[in-house]
Amino acid sequence: MLGGIAVACVPVLLVEYSLNTYVERSARAKLESLARGALSLAEVRLGSVMASLVDLSPAVDGCDQRSLEVMRKSASTSLPIKEIGVLDEGGTTLCTNFGDGGETRAVSREMPLADRRFEISLVRFRDRADRSIRLRLDRKNGKPLGALIPADFLVPDTLDGDFQEGRSLRLVLNNAEIVAARPVGDEGLSIDSARTIGVHLKSERFPISVVVERSRATLAGDYRDLMTVGRIGSALITILALAFAALYLRRNSNDPLVQFRQAIANGEIVPFFQPTIDIRSGKLVGSEVLARWRRPDGTMVSPAQFIPLAERSGLIYPMTHALMKKVCLEVGAAHVGRPHIKVAFNLYAGHFVNDSIIGELQSIFTKSPIALSQIVLEVTEREPLPDLDLARDIIGRLQKLGIQVAIDDVGTGHGGLSYLMKLGVDTIKIDKMFIDAISTERHSQTIIETLLELARTMNMEVIAEGVESFDQVEYLRRKGVHQAQGYVFAPPLPASSYLALIEAMDSDAAAQPGKSSAAA
Ligand code: C2E
Ligand code: CA
Ligand code: CA
Repeated sequence: MLGGIAVACVPVLLVEYSLNTYVERSARAKLESLARGALSLAEVRLGSVMASLVDLSPAVDGCDQRSLEVMRKSASTSLPIKEIGVLDEGGTTLCTNFGDGGETRAVSREMPLADRRFEISLVRFRDRADRSIRLRLDRKNGKPLGALIPADFLVPDTLDGDFQEGRSLRLVLNNAEIVAARPVGDEGLSIDSARTIGVHLKSERFPISVVVERSRATLAGDYRDLMTVGRIGSALITILALAFAALYLRRNSNDPLVQFRQAIANGEIVPFFQPTIDIRSGKLVGSEVLARWRRPDGTMVSPAQFIPLAERSGLIYPMTHALMKKVCLEVGAAHVGRPHIKVAFNLYAGHFVNDSIIGELQSIFTKSPIALSQIVLEVTEREPLPDLDLARDIIGRLQKLGIQVAIDDVGTGHGGLSYLMKLGVDTIKIDKMFIDAISTERHSQTIIETLLELARTMNMEVIAEGVESFDQVEYLRRKGVHQAQGYVFAPPLPASSYLALIEAMDSDAAAQPGKSSAAA
């Protein structure tokens, strides 16, 4: 479930990330265009002032009336120029278009331009806050000319509207601020990429640059609608993803295969034990392990409802493995010192397609309280074994380890007698179908007699299955059958009941471990 939620959160994170990236990119593009516009305006205005100075230069000799008149005319026709003056070699203003001269001004270091005749500097009027740019034209045949351009003329008039809180534009000469547009009281931003988006553009013609900045906090307002739509969209996607995840989980939790796999992992497949009795002595000789699915609510599911699924899906292998381990844990101790008490497991035809079952049995039982010589494996005759020669080889190798092999449900399959003879097993289990028919059908008795004859010749043990009455027990005993299983003795029992039965029926054996198992 947690995994599902995590997966469902992915679209939210992706949408959030994409929105943020989009907002940042689009804000930066706007800043760039603003900076480019501001820089070109400054360049165009400085360029036009340079052209005006060059134009009027031949007509201005010094501070004579004619020259002053020419300067006045030029200053009034050129928009950015506030003042044109004649300077001395040290840069002091001798006279201006206004007629005066000698006003005290602080001038920043003068910087040469690419056009070597010109120098540019920042001029501050002592008692005023506003600043101007001064362009100075050095002339071969006369004193230098200077033009003052108020800083405000170098930035767009429309700036004020663009500069609400958290935004700023600065025009800078070298490192000194010429002019800044920013909200009143705002000390300006500094490019701190965590809090601010900034663009810094340098002019190629003049030593000036434009720095435009905007605090990230102001972005949210501009892009609120977009963010809202994006977030609603991602919320919808998330809800859909969660709904699909829930549907998927529900479908999975209804899937019997998923449930069964989970049941094995949770240890819900438990062994029941049906006792096998020596009908000559009445002694307990072992049990057959029959699987039960004990659901968490305590209900028991019979193997008919899950063994076919287990076989089809291949889960029969981990299920058998888990069952064997559980048997060791639950009843293993009662088998110590009782070598005559066997425990039989049902195997599936698929267990004989390769020899891995041999290693598996060794790994489970070699160091367990149940010895390999106490193990019986039942192979049903109902389903044909895929490769008889391989099965025979595997059976032979199991027998060398001391394990016994029985054919289950004998008489019901298609193998026939030759099948039994070929496999070389130790025991045959005569199916309940023939036992049921003992008193009613003569041919059933004939089949039992034939099987007993075959078993005697081939030196195989016989177990009668599904024995429900004492008449059947009597008949089987008369015919020389030694072992039987069935409700007449006991149904499949939970481990605790089976342990109690072992104690009751085989109480002296554990105390005398050496006791012979001849009765079995
Ligand atoms: P089976 O191996 O022939 O097991 C004998 C079945 O007959 C058991 O049914 C048992 O409860 C039932 N039974 C025993 N005595 C009597 C009786 O006197 N009267 C009647 N009416 N029934 C009796 P169960 O436990 O329901 O098992 C059914 C089948 O499921 C088994 O038939 C076996 O083929 C399969 N099975 C059970 N556990 C496993 C397992 O761990 N692995 C595999 N591969 N198959 C299993
Ligand atoms: Ca069986
Ligand atoms: Ca059987």
